[in-house]
Amino acid sequence: MTLLPEVQYQQKVLKLLIQGQWKPSQSSQAQPVMNPATGSAICNVPFSLKEEVDQAVESSASAFEKWKEVPLTERVQYLFKLKNLFENHFEELARINTQNHGKTIVESRGDVKRATENVEAAIGAAYTLSKGEHLDQVTTGIDEGTVKEPLGVFALVCPFNFPIMIPFWFLPYAIVLGCTVVVKPSEVTPVPMTWLAELIQDEVKFPPGVINLVQGSRETVEHLIAHPKVKGVTFVGSTPVGRHVYKLAGEHGKRAIVQGGAKNSILIMPDADPAIAVDSSVSSIFGNTGQRCLAGANIIVTKEINRNLIEGIAKRSSSLKIGYGLDESTEMGPLTTEKSKAKVLQYIDNGLSDGAKLVLDGRKAGVKGYDKGFFLGASVFTEASPDMSIAKEEIFGPIASIVQVSNLDQAIEMINTSTNYGNAASIFTSNGYSARKFRRNVRAGNIGINVGVPAPMAFFPFGGMRDSFFGILHGQMDSVDFFTDRKVIISRWS
Ligand code: NAD
Repeated sequence: MTLLPEVQYQQKVLKLLIQGQWKPSQSSQAQPVMNPATGSAICNVPFSLKEEVDQAVESSASAFEKWKEVPLTERVQYLFKLKNLFENHFEELARINTQNHGKTIVESRGDVKRATENVEAAIGAAYTLSKGEHLDQVTTGIDEGTVKEPLGVFALVCPFNFPIMIPFWFLPYAIVLGCTVVVKPSEVTPVPMTWLAELIQDEVKFPPGVINLVQGSRETVEHLIAHPKVKGVTFVGSTPVGRHVYKLAGEHGKRAIVQGGAKNSILIMPDADPAIAVDSSVSSIFGNTGQRCLAGANIIVTKEINRNLIEGIAKRSSSLKIGYGLDESTEMGPLTTEKSKAKVLQYIDNGLSDGAKLVLDGRKAGVKGYDKGFFLGASVFTEASPDMSIAKEEIFGPIASIVQVSNLDQAIEMINTSTNYGNAASIFTSNGYSARKFRRNVRAGNIGINVGVPAPMAFFPFGGMRDSFFGILHGQMDSVDFFTDRKVIISRWS
């Protein structure tokens, strides 16, 4: 066992970044930010006052007027510095991420890597996708074309589960195109993004106001969306909150990208490679302790499936080493909050009372030396059915529900009807026809074929359908058109 040293965090009460200055919030409302492995508080997070949110927006609005005039080639140079920052502070960012979220250090490194890739993709997008178009002589003496213009201030509202990657699905694109942002990290895991913002402030030195950061929850977000100088909001989080945010954005005439919750399935066909199917399913479900919007929480098998495969899933899941994510040998960290742990326990009770069979019970798992941590082991249900709450609701924790169906058609039917979510779905098969039928008929935004976590790279949109997504344009590279508008220019020089 190699236990990596913890990063020591200095801010005892997180501050707000407004106009290039770190300011203590004047709010009397705050809550502790936990290390879920030790069960101890890292610091407190305040809930910003409305006046403080106003200051952040005003700062971003005035910064926008100057930032949009900075030549593109210069804006790109800031992003190169940002990429260097990620590389120079890679390990420390990964550790602080693990300390606040609980995920393993390997998963945290993935979080930082994906954020870096979005910076790289944004640099590419700046030079290619931000161009307009032009057509000479559309009629005699008349030329017509479009330019893409940055829109202004955007609020970036983030969930708790990928504290570094998710803000970067949007931030680098907005900034490089000439917009400015107010970031609102999750109040559960605000430390990694706040830490990163400190580094950015010290090393990248964006002009004051290009990136501001406020802390808080519902009221902060609602106030940001309603502010007349905010042009739009990107939101990633649960579906009920996402629906509320989308509605509010509409009421205020704002643009919105809203990525919501999920309940994803993995279909293992009898002709699948069993070793790949087992390994990929287990890492899909239990990676990030099941707190991943692409987790394949349901495993669907057909009647001809080999019993060994189901046993293989339970066996591999039972061998996952649980522990503090800073221990390099840990394969699954704790749940991020005590509340999430209680929710998972409740779903295990639900599954049992609905008649599913608990073939692997993770309830008793503990970690020596971390008795206050929010740990649970992997749990696996068999004989689950599509109408059970464990199979149709988002649990967001380490529970796999194995559901048996008759054939491919029934599996597709189950995926499309047992839940309203449509974030991801995977099939494991060696048959091209089955794979094609699956990808064409499943109503989910991210499809995996012999891939357990169909996570799109930065230069593809991050999809989502049905109740998992509200809006038109998606995160990552797709957001270029979200942060800009096209102006049509028709000219006559005769
Ligand atoms: P959440 O909905 O509780 O919170 C998300 C953000 O909204 C936080 O910043 C929070 O402070 C804010 N918020 C909370 N209540 C609010 C309200 N009433 N009005 C306005 N803002 C509010 O989500 P979470 O628990 O932080 O994250 C987990 C959820 O995120 C899961 O449902 C997961 O599936 C989803 N998620 C989706 C994707 C995706 O790409 N579709 C990616 C990651 C996570």
